[in-house]
Amino acid sequence: MSKTIAGFQGTLIGPAHAEYETARRVWNGMIDRRPVLVARCASASDARAALAFARREGWPIAIRGGAHNVAGNATVEGGVVIDLSRLKGLQLDRERRLAMAEPGLTWGELDAGTQTAGLATTGGLISTTGIAGFTLGGGIGWLMRKHGLTADNMVGAEMITADGEQVRACENENPDLFWALRGGGGNFGIVTRFDYQLHPVGQVFGGLTMYPVTRAGAVLRHFRELIEAAPDELTMMLAFLTAPPAPFVPAHLQGKPVVAIVLCYAGDLQEGERVVRPIKTFGPPAVDLLGPMPYVALQSMLDAGAPAGLQNYWKASYLAGLSDAAIDLVVEHASRMRSPLSQVHLQHMGGAVGRVAPGATAVSHRDALMALNIVAIWPSPTEAEIEAHTRWAREFDQAIAPHTTGGVYVNFLGNEGEERVRAAYGQKTYARLVEVKTKYDPDNVFRMNQNIRPR
Ligand SMILES: Cc1cc2nc3c(=O)[nH]c(=O)nc-3n(C[C@H](O)[C@H](O)[C@H](O)COP(=O)(O)OP(=O)(O)OC[C@H]3O[C@@H](n4cnc5c(N)ncnc54)[C@H](O)[C@@H]3O)c2cc1C
Repeated sequence: MSKTIAGFQGTLIGPAHAEYETARRVWNGMIDRRPVLVARCASASDARAALAFARREGWPIAIRGGAHNVAGNATVEGGVVIDLSRLKGLQLDRERRLAMAEPGLTWGELDAGTQTAGLATTGGLISTTGIAGFTLGGGIGWLMRKHGLTADNMVGAEMITADGEQVRACENENPDLFWALRGGGGNFGIVTRFDYQLHPVGQVFGGLTMYPVTRAGAVLRHFRELIEAAPDELTMMLAFLTAPPAPFVPAHLQGKPVVAIVLCYAGDLQEGERVVRPIKTFGPPAVDLLGPMPYVALQSMLDAGAPAGLQNYWKASYLAGLSDAAIDLVVEHASRMRSPLSQVHLQHMGGAVGRVAPGATAVSHRDALMALNIVAIWPSPTEAEIEAHTRWAREFDQAIAPHTTGGVYVNFLGNEGEERVRAAYGQKTYARLVEVKTKYDPDNVFRMNQNIRPR
């Protein structure tokens, strides 16, 4: 393989390069692949040059944004990683409330930029997550019940197709591609710019409460009541986790399993205080960190629970409802968590997410009440550990299956095969995605993803 790429201005990192060991890695420490080259782009034209080079040489290609996807598709065994993580340009159009963002930005960086204008769009719960893969799969975040998923706020994109053409996708240009990019993942090309609709967001009423896990059943039933009455401004998640040894956690709960309600009320602060009062009085919680806070503080509040490089195995689904039987199963299996790093998330959906017509974008399952994510995390890659933690997640997933819709959020999928990718979209949307894929990437050049195979 030649060590240069004509016209490439960024950094080429091969196995002999000092940074190779870190450059080949992604957020999920379970992924251990050795690309032949990481092409760390300095510009969109670098991405085009790297793509042409990899195609010419016949190497498989991975596209990298924030490298957070748990399946590890941002790196590739024996292929070329087109690494866009250094492309961090951001332009704001304050008047039209638009952000033009390059694909290497993380949510922390994008939020920091848009908040200088008192604006934001729906973004990730962990600030180190990349905007790129996140947006292309849908984008669940604290503003979604008020303003829709991130993909719903993407109003345009610039992209390099498999044959190196630069195209724009928006409502009036290549509308089929624009439809597919909003949910269809990285299947269609390399996105070099995302255009987002922004919204005024100042302080939010947010934070979390924690309860001992022995109260989990009662807290889940309370959560069920809360979501029935929740206005669009309120987005909530219930999480099983281990309480950190932090000063705000009472000594007797530190290092112990707890159940938390995490939330964001994006609206009038006094009204937010009123709406969440039942959460503050229920129990009462052992930890109450609910209050007014800057949006960026909420966006990074959970970062400590998601460090890079640990072993990660996730099983996700959408819950059709939260019956007593489903609650009992969640409590039973979540309480058997094998690692203090593992978590279980129940993310309340609905609101503006559910009001987008089915089929209007490639994001499916908009009628789901809740996204369940069983997140097994542990430090050591020994066989015994892998077996114990993956078994916990699989058994939980199997037990809860009768209470799920059968669908899944594509961005929470691991390497689970074609059937699960189809389940993420449903038959109709999947068939339409195949058509767009066949038009823009007939040779399946972009296949390190939750792959939609061309005809
Ligand atoms: C700690 C953590 C927290 C998370 N929190 C949330 C959350 O709150 N809400 C939520 O919805 N999801 C969440 N996720 C899931 C997240 O949406 C996915 O992991 C997503 O893939 C992250 O995007 P990325 O750019 O960091 O990923 P990457 O791994 O870099 O990319 C994922 C895939 O997207 C495609 N891709 C990336 N960049 C481009 C590009 N420029 N052009 C074309 N294709 C591209 C490629 O196929 C690539 O394999 C979280 C994940 C983690 C690990």
